[in-house]
Amino acid sequence: MTPPAQKNSAAMDAEVREKIHLEILKRTGAYQSNDHILLPSGHHSSEFIEKTLVTTEPSFTEGLGAVIAKHFAQWPVDVVLSTGPGALIVSHCVARAHPSRPILIYGTKGVSGGKRRVTLQAEFQRLIRPGTKVLLVEDLVSTGSTVRLLIELVEHLGGQVVGIGALWRRTKKAEIGGKPVFSLVSRDFPTYAPESCPICKKGVPLNEEFVRRRQGRKASKKEEP
Ligand SMILES: [Zn+2]
Repeated sequence: MTPPAQKNSAAMDAEVREKIHLEILKRTGAYQSNDHILLPSGHHSSEFIEKTLVTTEPSFTEGLGAVIAKHFAQWPVDVVLSTGPGALIVSHCVARAHPSRPILIYGTKGVSGGKRRVTLQAEFQRLIRPGTKVLLVEDLVSTGSTVRLLIELVEHLGGQVVGIGALWRRTKKAEIGGKPVFSLVSRDFPTYAPESCPICKKGVPLNEEFVRRRQGRKASKKEEP
């Protein structure tokens, strides 16, 4: 890590802002730290982000959406495009705060022929024409696979993706699919196999709350989208 004295003030500002955003997400209960958490993968971690809780506080979401809109304010945007309920709530806040007054549409995630897909209903497809400038908005970006599908979809219709805005990305990559990514928090956290978990070795009890909650959700749903 670079010592603080060598960092320029812009980098320091970004760090301070990220801390503030992290604190806001912590207040929604979406971000947990200093714990010993069982992840859905079976691995253990001291931190976890539960994306379903990220958008539960409307005033927080509005504030965070406005920060994303401000970052992309210098670029004209015709359409904000997202997928999934959480991303859609953030997208609304971003579109509302962007000076271009873009329209807001959303894709539907699904699986066909064993492959993940994102589709746009016909009414929305007509709103992306050659030259349409599109801002993609996500709540949480992990591998970027959904974002890549959205980029393909927009470019197939002749539109142009100006960037990707997200609340959180679990990668430090500055680009996905050649498009700039801006997120309020860029943070991944180490995960450990149970047999080599340093938190287990300290004897800290394992918190299974998140996995239990998810299993409850899956049991009450016919299929995972
Ligand atoms: Zn452990």
